[in-house]
Amino acid sequence: MKAQLISIGNELLIGDTINTNASWMGQFLNELGIEVTRVHTISDEKDLIKITVQKSMEESDLVITTGGLGPTHDDITKTCIAELFNAKLVKDESVDNYVRDLFKSRNIPFSESNSWQAMVPGNCEVLFNKAGTAPGMWFHENDCYLAVLPGVPYEMKYLMKRRVASKLREVWESVGYIHTEYLKIAGIGESTLSDQVLGDLTSFLNEHVSLAFLPSFGQVTLRVTGKGETKEQATNRSQKLVDFIKLKAGPFIYGSSKETTLSEAVGEILKSKNLTIATAESCTGGLIATQITDIPGSSEYMLGGIVSYANEVKVNQLGVKKEDLEQVGAVSKEVALQMAKGVSEKLGSNVGISTTGVAGPGGGTKEKPVGTVWIGIFGLGQHFAVKAFFTKDRIANRERTSVVALEIIRRLLSGMDELPYALKKEFA
Ligand code: ATP
Ligand code: MG
Repeated sequence: MKAQLISIGNELLIGDTINTNASWMGQFLNELGIEVTRVHTISDEKDLIKITVQKSMEESDLVITTGGLGPTHDDITKTCIAELFNAKLVKDESVDNYVRDLFKSRNIPFSESNSWQAMVPGNCEVLFNKAGTAPGMWFHENDCYLAVLPGVPYEMKYLMKRRVASKLREVWESVGYIHTEYLKIAGIGESTLSDQVLGDLTSFLNEHVSLAFLPSFGQVTLRVTGKGETKEQATNRSQKLVDFIKLKAGPFIYGSSKETTLSEAVGEILKSKNLTIATAESCTGGLIATQITDIPGSSEYMLGGIVSYANEVKVNQLGVKKEDLEQVGAVSKEVALQMAKGVSEKLGSNVGISTTGVAGPGGGTKEKPVGTVWIGIFGLGQHFAVKAFFTKDRIANRERTSVVALEIIRRLLSGMDELPYALKKEFA
């Protein structure tokens, strides 16, 4: 079962838009057991669209195009396909009614160019698009299936999941079901996680069950995928591996859905324990406070934060000792400890957390190279700081510092002794 994908749009070729559709569809089809043999990225040019679709259909069992279905003059995919099949464009009443109702319900005047959305080649089956206005189209010609989908990623995904997958199941018995689970982990390197925590997983992995390590700044997301002929079979197959990972790496897992964030996990624990937190941030510039307050309902446990970038603010707002700033400098254990204690006492929180570091690209010295960061913790009967070394990149340093700081808090609150990356507690 072989497929080719055709991404249509000038914006993809000049680099304005990254072709995320093709990679997403490649993964989706692969998981269904369909092999994608080629991806074409082409401009909005009539002859090129026609010849590419035609040739791809001759070579494959399935062809999927995205882009160029909108109502504007540069959207020509539908016309090209109709010409290719010598089909007339006909009005699909259900799409027409749907689009008109949509405009009415949003109180937007309906312009006639929108009627164009309901015009489809007579030889297609409409893939009704509840995520947008341009319908997808499904063709079966010359022993090949063709899906024509809109370019907007959200709409394309909706149609792939809700319409195309079931069409494929109708025509190919071997197309099965996929069940995916995500396990989110922070503060442990990918290789340590794999070698020392999880160990050999080969006995769980086979043609039906796969595992992917998806690393990002200071975090690893594990994606477990199970395939089966039924939904239940796919779920059961992946479950065995998920259970084993939870057994081995349980305390490191902060979330078991793709969307869960570390700050959300920390917030849940703070809420359940009726505790409050406050932040004193230098090198992270408020990022930790932002991540904490990204979570709805965070006012229950987040009291506030002080972005103490200048030394005067560290002294005047947080009670950091001037002598220490002069003698050991702002990026030091002493200052991190005083900042965490200072903010916790000033705002009256159970937990205070601080960050101070050399974010880069400038400002590094031999003793304190770019990437040196101190994180301070005060509260829960603890008062310590940890020193970490990150990268030369300013943005990456901020991200990593936030992850490590939040993960330290999460582990403390969960009664875990081991710190992220086996960092050492240092005391006053
Ligand atoms: P619309 O009805 O919104 O006009 P369309 O089918 O005409 O949909 P396009 O005009 O080609 O789609 O693209 C709509 C949006 O989707 C654009 O913002 C474009 O950048 C984005 N897009 C198009 N193709 C891709 C792709 N392959 N990957 C990621 N984004 C894409
Ligand atoms: Mg468009």
